[in-house]
Amino acid sequence: MLESRAGKGFLEGMGSARAEASNLTSGRISRIRRGVLDWYAREKRDLPWRKRPTPYRVWVSEILLQQTRVETAIPYFRDLMRRFPSLRSLSRARVDEVLMAWSGLGYYRRARNLHQAVREVEERYGGKVPRSAEALRSLPGIGDYTAGAIRSIAFGERAAAVDGNTFRVVARLQAYRGDPKRSGAMGRVRRWAETLVPVRDPGVFNQALMDLGARICLPRNPSCEKCPVRGSCRARKQGLARSIPPASPSRSRRVREVAAVIRRGGRVLLARRPEKGLLGGLWELPGGEMVDSLPEEQFLRDLTRERLGLQVRVVKRLGEIRHSIMDRQIRGVAFDCRVEKGRLRTRVYEACRWLSPEEIRDVPITGATRKYLPHLAKAARPREVEV
Ligand code: SF4
Repeated sequence: MLESRAGKGFLEGMGSARAEASNLTSGRISRIRRGVLDWYAREKRDLPWRKRPTPYRVWVSEILLQQTRVETAIPYFRDLMRRFPSLRSLSRARVDEVLMAWSGLGYYRRARNLHQAVREVEERYGGKVPRSAEALRSLPGIGDYTAGAIRSIAFGERAAAVDGNTFRVVARLQAYRGDPKRSGAMGRVRRWAETLVPVRDPGVFNQALMDLGARICLPRNPSCEKCPVRGSCRARKQGLARSIPPASPSRSRRVREVAAVIRRGGRVLLARRPEKGLLGGLWELPGGEMVDSLPEEQFLRDLTRERLGLQVRVVKRLGEIRHSIMDRQIRGVAFDCRVEKGRLRTRVYEACRWLSPEEIRDVPITGATRKYLPHLAKAARPREVEV
């Protein structure tokens, strides 16, 4: 009966979880499980967090992998494990040390939340990562996906872990066209995923589904001909694979930013962003987003006066960077600036410091400022002005 509705958007409008799950007949479930697990046994990637999947290591890896590609996350994971080999060592670190280790990865809220959460685990659970979904989800930075990943991979609990990759695979298997940004669609796919997760080795199955989504069932160009579950995939049969999930309109916005390189002796002025807010607590070259159509030099002069209390002369353009953060595609330009008068006051920033190139390496800086660093060497030797 349900099978015969497949051509018309399959299960669309059917309310109960039971009816949704019933679509996954026992034969189909076992074919999908077997296909996914056999493929994974052959194709599994050798990733550092897969060796010794302790709750702490799984947790750190899952937080890193939010918004970050696997290849990028690997060296950060190794470095974090070297600096903070245990949950206790991470909980005792200063937030600056954690941000340093995260430097260049973006989405720094993840690092702050992780740090805060391990401290809570130390205080509330005696340093043992809790097992229950409820307790995990009460920790900063842990939602349904991360809780499911930790429970299944580290504790062997039968729990689904539905990230973007898993959503895509399961939605395609079911030819379901719901938008993953809508909670109803996410809930429905999660229930299907829970049905698919086996009692035995649930974490292996979840990782296999994630890998399948990352390597075969790709967003734009799924390799259906190589897919181990193609025989069970309704989207493939109906020619819908590429249109599931529906594309969301691009929200990216192009912005221009300017940054001031103000030097004193061999040091450069860096400012610390407010704790609360985007990139909170990180250090950066003073500057900001252009909000009107003024020439860049004039905008930068106004900005340094307002934010730092310094009147500067813009001496020369040092270089340009491209940087993306959240929905913003940034074109940034750094200028060599010379102080003409004024006294340094921090109005918008939490603090300002003159830092040598070596000292800059020891503070957590924003990704954009990291990209500006090679241009700093080009800054002209300033006439020194005491600020
Ligand atoms: S057959 Fe194609 S669409 Fe279906 S799960 Fe495999 S790769 Fe994805």
